[in-house]
Amino acid sequence: MSEAQEIQIGQQQDAEVRKEMGVYNDRALQEYVTTLGLKLAQVSERPNLPWHFTVLDVPAINAFALPGGYIYITRGILPFLDDEAQLAGVLGHEIGHVTARHSAQQYSRATGAQLGLILGSILVPQTRPFAQLGESGLGLLFLKYSRDDEEQADALGVKYASRAGWDPAGVPRMLTTLARIEEASDNKGVPNWLSTHPAPVDRVQKVQSVVQQAASGAARFTSDRDGYLRRMDGIVYGDNPEQGVVRGASFLHAGLRFAMEFPPGWDVNNGQTQVVAKEPGGNTLLLLQPVQQPIGRSIQEVALRSMDSAGFRAASGGRTTINGLDAFVGTYEGALQDLGRVTVRAAHIALDRDVLLVAGIAPQQTYDRVEPTFIKSINSFRPLTRAEAEAIRPNRIDLYTARAGDTWQSIAERAGRGVIKPSTLAIMNGHAVNDQPRPGERLKIVVSG
Ligand SMILES: [Zn+2]
Repeated sequence: MSEAQEIQIGQQQDAEVRKEMGVYNDRALQEYVTTLGLKLAQVSERPNLPWHFTVLDVPAINAFALPGGYIYITRGILPFLDDEAQLAGVLGHEIGHVTARHSAQQYSRATGAQLGLILGSILVPQTRPFAQLGESGLGLLFLKYSRDDEEQADALGVKYASRAGWDPAGVPRMLTTLARIEEASDNKGVPNWLSTHPAPVDRVQKVQSVVQQAASGAARFTSDRDGYLRRMDGIVYGDNPEQGVVRGASFLHAGLRFAMEFPPGWDVNNGQTQVVAKEPGGNTLLLLQPVQQPIGRSIQEVALRSMDSAGFRAASGGRTTINGLDAFVGTYEGALQDLGRVTVRAAHIALDRDVLLVAGIAPQQTYDRVEPTFIKSINSFRPLTRAEAEAIRPNRIDLYTARAGDTWQSIAERAGRGVIKPSTLAIMNGHAVNDQPRPGERLKIVVSG
């Protein structure tokens, strides 16, 4: 792949990434990350690429690179980095994937069909509205690298960070934090930096000798923890109301101004393009997503057409209203890859200029048992007033100085129920989960909206 091709692919994919994942609306933070990234890129082997650095409005912990010098970091990973040297380590690592042409190689290896699938699932989700069950379409975009590539990128991250004046020990410290997140995670299978970057705990050891080399003979390095913490103060933690937040079993969307209730106790996952709730231990699902480019003059036509194009045959259905909103609710038969023959209870609901789909999906033989649950959730869909929408606030990072007697538990309890786990607080402040904060230690904490 030529450099011109690399840049062209990066440019095309960049437009998709920005549109699908969203750019975090904080100019000062974007400029900070860009300034830092450019310093690192300038000391790399490819300083003349048109480098771009973007903070995405995504709560997942992730960073990735596209060919041609496009580097992305999620707002979700930022609070888990504990100083500027660690941020430099992550950006340096991703720059390394570009300078070593790992990302270009991965794109070259992908066949035409694979690329089509990547583009298909991102560009035109309406062609396969149920295609993403169990795997995020965007997960496909995150290129998986080999272990050798990862270790090379770690070493390059160390090299660029130290050349540009940051403490190269930020790389193993950042990898240690990622290893702790992985260990504490009960969310396996969610596409994030961990699933595309194998076994950080091994990499900590591998990178240590590189760090020692980089550190020897150097004058002085900076980590700037205080400055970094100040940059983190106030950034959104977790879901953003503009894209919808999960609060217990409720889903509230301030941008589109609606709310609905999922069945209590179900595992609700607010993804980038859809919300999927799963019955614990079962293979019954409820999903919520916008109908992309709805076609039809009536809600009935929109519903039947979009279900038909997804391969679902209407068994029954009728026009109705749900909390004052025009809707078409139907029962459909079809098949899904992992579930086999399924029955779907689907409501297509008109909300201003959008059409929202709420679909309960169950294997045919168990559908009757869960139908009342599906109906209850569908009927909970309701518009929000402007005032209600404005009252939904995101959780945010705040700074706090630990006092004698503070524990992660006591700090987490003050934030409120379910806002953040004590172990997560420990990890985001660079501690092992069984450590406790030291009195006087400056900490990142989470406050509810
Ligand atoms: Zn990597």
